[in-house]
Formats: sequence, C-alpha cells, structure tokens
Amino acid sequence: MNKPSVTHLLAERLKKSSSAEIFTDIASRGRYATDASIYQTIPHAVCVPHTGDDVVAAIQIARELEVPILPRGGGTSQCGQTTGAALVIDNSKYFRDLLEVNVAENTATVQPGMVLDHLNAHLKHHQLWYPVDVSTSGQATIGGMAGNNSCGSRSIAYGNMVHNVSDIDAWLANGELVKFGLMEEAQGRAKQLGEMVRGLALQYQSEIDQHWPKVLRRVAGYNLDIFHNQNERPYTSDGKVNLAHLLVGSEGSLAYFKQLRLKLAPLPKHKTLGVINFLNFQKAMDSAQHIVKLGPSAVELVDRTMLDLGLANPEFQSVIETALIDKDAPTPEAILLVEFSGEEQAPLINQLKELVSLMADLGLPNSVVEMIHPQTQKNLWEVRKAGLNIMMSLKGDGKPVSFIEDCAVPLEHLAQYTAELTDIFSKYGTRGTWYAHASVGTLHVRPILDMRRDGTVKMRAIAEEASVLVKKYKGAFSGEHGDGISRGEWIQWQFGSNINQAFTQIKNAFDPSNLFNPGKIVNPPKMDEHHLLRFHPKYEVRSLNTTLDWSAWNVQNNPMTEEVTAPGTGKDPAQGFAKAVEMCNNNGHCRKFDAGTMCPSYRVTRDEQHLTRGRANTLRLALSNQLEKNLLTSQTVKDAMDLCVSCKGCKKECPTGVDMAKMKIEFLSHYKKKYGLSLRDRLIAYVPQYASFISKRPKLAALLNLRNKVPWMAKLTELLLGISAKRSLPMWQTTTAWDSPYYKMGYDDWQIECMAGQDLVVLFADTFNGYFEQDNMNAAAEVLEAAGYWVYIPRKDQGHYCCGRTLLSGGLIDEAKVQAQELLDLLYPYAEKGFAIVGLEPSCILSLRDEYLMMGLGPQAEIVAKHSFTFEEFIAQEIQKNNFPTKNTRIKKLEFREADQDILVHGHCHQKAFEVTNPILDVLKMIPGAKPKLIETSCCGMAGSFGYEVEHQEISMQMAELSLLPTIRSSPNAIIVADGTSCRHQIEDGTSRKALHVAKVLQMHLK
Ligand SMILES: Cc1cc2nc3c(=O)[nH]c(=O)nc-3n(C[C@H](O)[C@H](O)[C@H](O)COP(=O)(O)OP(=O)(O)OC[C@H]3O[C@@H](n4cnc5c(N)ncnc54)[C@H](O)[C@@H]3O)c2cc1C
Ligand code: SF4
Ligand code: SF4
Repeated sequence: MNKPSVTHLLAERLKKSSSAEIFTDIASRGRYATDASIYQTIPHAVCVPHTGDDVVAAIQIARELEVPILPRGGGTSQCGQTTGAALVIDNSKYFRDLLEVNVAENTATVQPGMVLDHLNAHLKHHQLWYPVDVSTSGQATIGGMAGNNSCGSRSIAYGNMVHNVSDIDAWLANGELVKFGLMEEAQGRAKQLGEMVRGLALQYQSEIDQHWPKVLRRVAGYNLDIFHNQNERPYTSDGKVNLAHLLVGSEGSLAYFKQLRLKLAPLPKHKTLGVINFLNFQKAMDSAQHIVKLGPSAVELVDRTMLDLGLANPEFQSVIETALIDKDAPTPEAILLVEFSGEEQAPLINQLKELVSLMADLGLPNSVVEMIHPQTQKNLWEVRKAGLNIMMSLKGDGKPVSFIEDCAVPLEHLAQYTAELTDIFSKYGTRGTWYAHASVGTLHVRPILDMRRDGTVKMRAIAEEASVLVKKYKGAFSGEHGDGISRGEWIQWQFGSNINQAFTQIKNAFDPSNLFNPGKIVNPPKMDEHHLLRFHPKYEVRSLNTTLDWSAWNVQNNPMTEEVTAPGTGKDPAQGFAKAVEMCNNNGHCRKFDAGTMCPSYRVTRDEQHLTRGRANTLRLALSNQLEKNLLTSQTVKDAMDLCVSCKGCKKECPTGVDMAKMKIEFLSHYKKKYGLSLRDRLIAYVPQYASFISKRPKLAALLNLRNKVPWMAKLTELLLGISAKRSLPMWQTTTAWDSPYYKMGYDDWQIECMAGQDLVVLFADTFNGYFEQDNMNAAAEVLEAAGYWVYIPRKDQGHYCCGRTLLSGGLIDEAKVQAQELLDLLYPYAEKGFAIVGLEPSCILSLRDEYLMMGLGPQAEIVAKHSFTFEEFIAQEIQKNNFPTKNTRIKKLEFREADQDILVHGHCHQKAFEVTNPILDVLKMIPGAKPKLIETSCCGMAGSFGYEVEHQEISMQMAELSLLPTIRSSPNAIIVADGTSCRHQIEDGTSRKALHVAKVLQMHLK
C-alpha cells in the first residue's frame, strides 16, 4: 500500500485539530511558492489560521510529522525568505488584529498579520504612527516586517524595525509561548535563551567588534550585537538589552510571533521637502554626506532612468514635473528628496533655506525645488514609493534582479561605491537604475539579467565583485531586505566563520529540531541553485494558440539600453501570453486596500487565490505545465478566474501592468471552446442579438418584465438559468434609441467627405442604453445638440451595431471579432475624417480603445480608438479646447440652471482604468452651484453579469458594501451619478435609489 504523503497527513490532522483553512491542492500551494524574489519552492501545504490556537496546533502537528513551518505575511520579501518546502502559515487573512493602543506609553500591540497602513490608519486619530515606513506599507505585515528587520525611508530619523519593537510573544518549536522583552525582566525560557546568547556575545566580542558593519542598515544574520551595540543607532534609548531584538530579522527561523508590542512615534505635524536637481549623478551621491548634517528625516534618491520612466507614464508625469526646476530642460541625472519634519513649520522652512544655501555652497545654486504644501509632497513620495515597480515594467525575459540591491555603505564612500558598481555592471553587459535611501547609504539597484539564459552566472559574478566593494568600504551586504536565499551564503563572508557558528548555536538553542524556516540564515543554500529559481534555464512554456494578440509582450530587451525588440520576436511558445503573465513579479501591490480599484475580489475575500497575483501565478504555473496537464482549461484555473470581475483595476494599478481582465477573456475563450456555453452564458452573451426581436414585441416584453414583479418567476429563472432571484433585471422597452429623431441609416462617402470640418458627433448607441435606457441616449443627444453639434446615432436595418462587449466577456472572441469588424467598418470613415465617436456605456466605448487593439483588427482599429470617447470625456475636452461650435446657428453654447442638490459620483471601473473619471466631475461643474463629489470606491461589484449570477450575488453585494452603498445611504438627498448600467442596477438593488447617467443630469439642468 502507498504511504500517504506528508501533504495528505498534514491536511488530515490539521483539519481535525484546528479551525484553520487548509490548502493542499497544487494550485494553492503554487500560489504560496513565491514571494517578490526570483525564487520558487512549492510548499507541502498552506494553513490560514483563524486564531492563535490554530497556529499552536499547526506547530505541534508539523513538528510531529517533521515538516518545517514557514510563517508568512504579505509574501513581499525580495530574497526568497518566504519560500520553502514547508507548511506555510499565512497570518494575513485572520491573524491581524490591533490588540491594544497605549497612548500614554506610545505603544501598540498587534497580531503579526496586521498590515502597516491599517495600523497607521487606526493610530492617526491619536496623532501617532508607527514610523518604519516601508515602501510596501499597503501590504507588508508587522510580523513580516519584524521577520525581516525592515527599514523605511525615514530610518535616519526613526531607525529600523529592531529599534521600534519592544516585546514579542512568540511560540517556540515545542509549542511553548515565551515573552521576549527586556533582558532584565526575562524569565524562564526567555531568560535561559538570553543568557545563552549573552555567553556567545561575550565569547565572540572581539570578532563582533572586528566584523560587524558599523552602519544603521545592517540586517543580516541574528542581532548578536544587542549586548554590545554595533549599530549607528542604539537599539534602546536607555542602553538596556531587549531580547525581542534577537527575534527581529530572524526571518521566521527562530520562533513564531504571536503578538508584537511596538514603539509608536508622534505624527509629525509639519513637513517640508526640498527636491535637489542634479545634472551629475556622482555629485548627488557626494552631496548626501553633507545634507544629512542638516538633520533631515529622509534623503531619498530617484535617478534619471526612473524619472524618465515616470515621465513617460501618464499616472506619474505631472507629479514628477513638480519636482523639476525646469520641466522643459533635459531630465536631471538624479534628484534627492530631502525632507524635514517637526512640530512647528517655521523651523522647517528655515531648514529648507539652509539646504538651498548648502547646495549653493556645494556649487549648485538654484538647484532646489522647495515644497511646502503637504499634498504636493505626498504626491511625490507616492511616486518615489512606486520606484521599484516603475522599473519592473520592462517587457522581455531580462528583468531587473534583486540580489545586491540593498548593500549599505558609509555615506562618505557612496559616490565611489556607486561608480565602481556601475562599472561592474557594464563589464557584465548590463546596467542598473539607482534609487532610494541616500541618507543611510542604502541605494537600491537591480541589474537587468535574464535568469533563463546566462542570468545566474552573471548574478554570481556581479555578487562576488560587489562583495569586494562592500568589504572595501566597510559596508553591510544586506542592508534592508534580509538574507533569505539570495544573501544567506554571504552571512559567513560578512561575519566570519566564528560568528556564523554562533548563529548556528543560536538557531539550535531556539529551534533544536530545525522546524522553523530551515535553510534561512543558518545552513543556507547557494543563491544560484537552479532548483530554487522561479525562472531557470530549464523553465519551459507550453505552446498555445492565443485568441487575442499578445505579441506586444512577446519581445526581448537589451539590458544596456532597455530597448525592446519588435512585437512577436520574443520566442514565447504561448505567443506572448506567457510573457504577459510573467510580468507579475509577486510584489503584492494588488493586496492594497487604498483608494484605488485593484483588487475587489481580494478586498472581500482576502484569499491569495482571488488576488491578481494569485491569478497571475495560477496562469504562469498552468502555462509552464506545473499544474494539471490540461493547461489553461483546468478547473483550477477556472476557480482562480471565477471572482475576477474584469474591472481592469489591475491594468492601471498593477505597477507592471498585469491586465487580468484581458487574461480572463483569453482564458474563457479556451475554456468555453472546450466545455461549451451554458444557457445563461448564451442568454447574456447574445443579448445584443435578440434584443431587437423582443423590443419589437410588446407582449413578449411585458411578459418578460413580469419576472421582476412575480417572485416565483424570479425563483424559476434562478433555478433554470442561475440568475439570482434577489436581482431585478433590466426592463425591456418597446421604444428604443433607434426610434429617436437622431438616428440615420448612415451617410454616404461623399456626404462624409462634405461634412469634414463640420460639427458632427457619432453617438454610438450600445445595447444597454439603446434598448433598456433609451432616455440616456436622448439626453446625451439633446445635450450635444444644445452644445451645437449635429448628432448622428448609427442604425442598422436589422438589429443594431454592437461593440461585442458581451461576447468578449463570455470569451467568444471569434464572434466578437465579427461584430467589432462590422462596427469598425461603420465608424472608420468618420474617425478618419476626425469626427468624434462618443459612447455612454463606459465598458462598451472603452473596449474600442482597449480590447479592439488586441483582436487583430488592423490599423482601422487604431484610428477608431484614437477618436473614441466617453460622452463626458468628449465634452470635457471640448470645454478645455474652448471648442464648442460657434458656427452653428442653432444653439451657441450650453446653459444650465442652478443645481439645488448634492451630487455624488461613482466612477465605473473602466473609467477609472482609463483615467476618464475626472471628466464626469468637470462636466458637472458646468452646472452653476454644482459641487460634485467622487465616491472613493473600488468596483461596485455588479460588473456586467457577475452580480446577477446566483453563485456571485452575495460576493457582489459585499463588494458594493465596502464603501459605495454606505456612502450613498449616508447622503439620502444627493443625486447619484453612475455611468455604468450595471453600477446603476447595483445601486438600485442595494439602496433602492436610482442612479443617473451624467448625460441625464446635464439634460435635467439644461435651461
Ligand atoms: C516593491 C517592494 C518594495 C519594498 N520596499 C521595502 C522597503 O522600503 N523597506 C524594507 O525594509 N523592505 C522593503 N521591501 C521588502 C518587504 O516588503 C518587506 O521586508 C516587508 O516588511 C515584508 O513584509 P511581509 O508581510 O510581506 O513579510 P513576508 O515576506 O511574508 O515575511 C517576511 C519574513 O518574516 C517572517 N515572518 C512573517 N510572519 C512571521 C511570524 N508571525 N513569526 C515569525 N516570522 C514571521 C517570514 O517567515 C519571512 O521570513 C520591499 C519589497 C518590494 C517588493
Ligand atoms: S499582479 Fe501586479 S500588483 Fe499584483 S503582485 Fe503581480 S505585479 Fe504586483
Ligand atoms: S480585473 Fe479587477 S478583479 Fe480581476 S484581477 Fe484585475 S483588479 Fe482583480
């Protein structure tokens, strides 16, 4: 009889003895096989504990089965410390409470899975914060930050994690819960362990003095120096030894944190920011040592490559321009962001002046942009925080690789160190982009390497040469991101064999059975072992004929120039789809909960499976044959895609542009080809095809509309079709947009020719506004006419022109292409003559600018895309250009009556993804007295047909309840504007309030 596998045994026992969620399937384990490093190891199983008791049970069972334990937070580590053949325990879903805030003592006690931003949001009203401000603050957990001894941009003022943790209650491998705090108060096992480590510290005192880097940013090894501090900054203000500091930076290899008590700091009331523009990179590096003497709270570098990448990105361009002395001059080689913070503003302004005169003394007069306004400063900090991610958007197999990215050197050597490291990069045919913590000598840099080809060889060679530099300048090889796999082997190099031996003794004393995260810090593997890499020379992608055109991703790049080859030349057997999926570098940015959209399904489930990263990993594993053999069409992939609402939040907000909505279309096209369509799929996908038939038959329309009034009919549709009985369906109308006076069968070529230069707008009537809410079409036409335009609503003899959106959403790409081609044939002559094509339904009109460009529709699609606009976007642009027709003799300008109600605006996700939400506000502001307010929402949750589907109705409502519906309920008298048909339905189902298309609101206010 076959012996049951470890995975099987773990699952069986964990399910019996704990309330944790347990995952043993290969896809779930695969999603926990990576962090933000270059490594991958499939764990034995994944445990998501609800409580501390679940963790205790897991530790005990794993110990008995001799399976290692790997604690995990956001999984955003860069060195591979969160990967391993272990039982992974994910704290981030449930084990994340704020247990106590002690305002008098400025401390907070948290569970390890609490995310830094969430903690700081709680602390804000106490005017306190936790000041270890890592760039991943939206997803890094306190447990993970402590595990890595993380450091923020303001470490020069506040120190690293080790300086800001005062107690850790942790479980040892035998399950004993031990309090680690001040040595003098230690008892029992903590005292015993403390004494043992103190003995080692004494024994190796002289070696510690000799080998320990004397910089703030040393995070390698265990903190054996707590008994005789080697850090630039004392670990405690009173010199007392704190045993919790032994656990900080231990990367889950000594004990499992149950709760952590943190030292808080008062929120600085004021800040000023000086942005120094340098025309010479070395000068910037050299200046840092002088600037820190002015007492800044941060000095951060952004180099030219990153500035240029940021300037090329519409999301960052205007912000970066605020940092430039002259935005029309060539981009500076570097900028330094120098922040001063404190209780009073006046001294900070003085410090800024001192900075200006310092720079003049250093030969750089007029080089500082002075920023006093908090929002301007905040915007620039956000761009700096996005730095690494901006860099990671490079397409092709060569990627900026993290392995020497946070070496820390004393400031006086920074210029020399960066120059020499740059030479090393060139020697190996690559280059790096420099950014981050100039104040503490930790500059991030990642050379571009292709790990599937010669990357591993070059990585080792560069690391060897870089280590010589670090030693020469008495720096720390690991200055921020920990050891993990990429730095583990350098611990002995850094500290010498005796101290390395002492680390082994510490590990043995804490964790004699080597249960916790083995191979990290002690007995590490080589950094370039192929079997540990995510991409390696034997990595293979299975061939796939894609339905969408992914050739833009199918490229390679030049590591020196970052130029990419022509589309389609990247040799991806999956025609670019695999390379698009591989753009996800696992940084975990999609786990955020801030004002953006991404990722609504994660926001409500907190499941790795329902996260953009989880989906990208699932697809990557499937495409590289690491899951079941039937590749893309497996149930596993379907499950991961199931809750993706195709909101396109990731398209805009994922720093590397992972566009999961398009990937879902690609997936569905293969899946549906294999398994066919359900009746519900057909009814939804083919609405545009049969809508005309129903609208011409009033009796049939009335009968169908009964479904919303008669409960048993609703229940029947739920049973037969899977459409939730809790939903109202759009009501069939017998008068459609095409019955309006604005339609025409089309113009002849000669007429279009004659109309060139005239004020004609093609108003595209989509299925939803055309058949179900034709009032919106009339309103839009009326407003456009009032503004002086000729309005043309295209119409067909039979049916109507359709963009194919419902077919696309159903994965019916071939049929969608036929529809799209027909629409393009109609629209192209108008677009070519420069006429605007305007649409009301965001997901329909914007698909002309998005999916159409990936459907192989040729250059016509490009031209039409350039001339397609949402209704309000077109009007807003025309206002900006002051372009309202004046030749028109009918009505010369729009005039509105005064607004007498508040207006709340909910942006459709696709409007957000294309950054066309602001025009809604712009056009509403044309109404005198209107003060429209944008509701900060993620997706409304309805997302086309998603929220109607019986299995998704509940989760759809949860998405809406995150913020949209509560905000609407709190403003009972406001007009609610929502341009998306499904958003309007969601709002009505959730609040019984009718939301309006912006065109209707403008029409209502026309004089
Ligand atoms: C784009 C990007 C930017 C970054 N910027 C910064 C930065 O500014 N500063 C910085 O310091 N780092 C930075 N990092 C690295 C990383 O984000 C941080 O180290 C972060 O603190 C890790 O948090 P996490 O929750 O993701 O931890 P994880 O990666 O999940 O875990 C980190 C370590 O802690 C251990 N651990 C987790 N929970 C426990 C527990 N309960 N008990 C014991 N051990 C535990 C894990 O085993 C692992 O070894 C960056 C990473 C990326 C991708
Ligand atoms: S999907 Fe994007 S945001 Fe999420 S982890 Fe991957 S790269 Fe980061
Ligand atoms: S499209 Fe929306 S739901 Fe889907 S992965 Fe992207 S952000 Fe998440």
